[in-house]
Amino acid sequence: MQTVNQTATKVLTETVTNRPRRRVGILGGTFNPPHLGHLIMAQQVGDQLGLDEVRFMPDAEPPHVDEKKTIAVEDRANMVQEAIVDNPLFRLETAEIERGGKSYTYDTMKALKAKHPDTQYYFIIGGDMVDYLHTWYHIEDLVKLVTFVGIKRTGYPTTSQYPVIWVDAPLIDISSTQIRQKISHGHSVRYLVPEAVAAYIKEHHLYEQND
Ligand code: ATP
Repeated sequence: MQTVNQTATKVLTETVTNRPRRRVGILGGTFNPPHLGHLIMAQQVGDQLGLDEVRFMPDAEPPHVDEKKTIAVEDRANMVQEAIVDNPLFRLETAEIERGGKSYTYDTMKALKAKHPDTQYYFIIGGDMVDYLHTWYHIEDLVKLVTFVGIKRTGYPTTSQYPVIWVDAPLIDISSTQIRQKISHGHSVRYLVPEAVAAYIKEHHLYEQND
């Protein structure tokens, strides 16, 4: 518990340095399904940058049609919730789901920032995506709204034409694609996804259809 003095010092520091009151990481994705790679990456960023929380933000757009494995947005959000529930640093961000349809990061972050002007947002992306930031919708305005955090990846440069904070996280070679394929082939995904997510997938018979 903070003493009155500690609280006063914190308030004073924030006033003097004009430091935003909350520092929040955002990990956007399809989470179809969420896996250990997502959780490890989010934890590493939250810890290394000392963030107050990291939010997992599922997109509203259904998975690509040619995958023929349409998973309801609710199932993806429920799986994220199952995956993060025991970690006090993690939260589910439903902004894009609530808006529906395709959301540009710029529109989402602009809306979040308008709601919470005192929050500093850290938008987390893989190192392989940093080179493509110039293609993002309204990127010049977006970099003023959020701080980008890049996860270093072997074989990709750690330079960027936009400001990026680089974070080292262990490279975990797990993808949602791999999880879906394993399930459709009847293989185990134990230790690749949290147990609660594996249970949810089983209970709802997700990804079982072998196309
Ligand atoms: P898919 O295989 O369906 O494309 P994915 O595993 O990449 O899915 P997403 O939900 O698209 O999962 O990922 C959300 C974010 O997490 C993206 O920024 C992605 O680059 C990052 N990410 C996904 N898997 C890993 C991993 N194993 N290590 C680090 N970052 C990851």
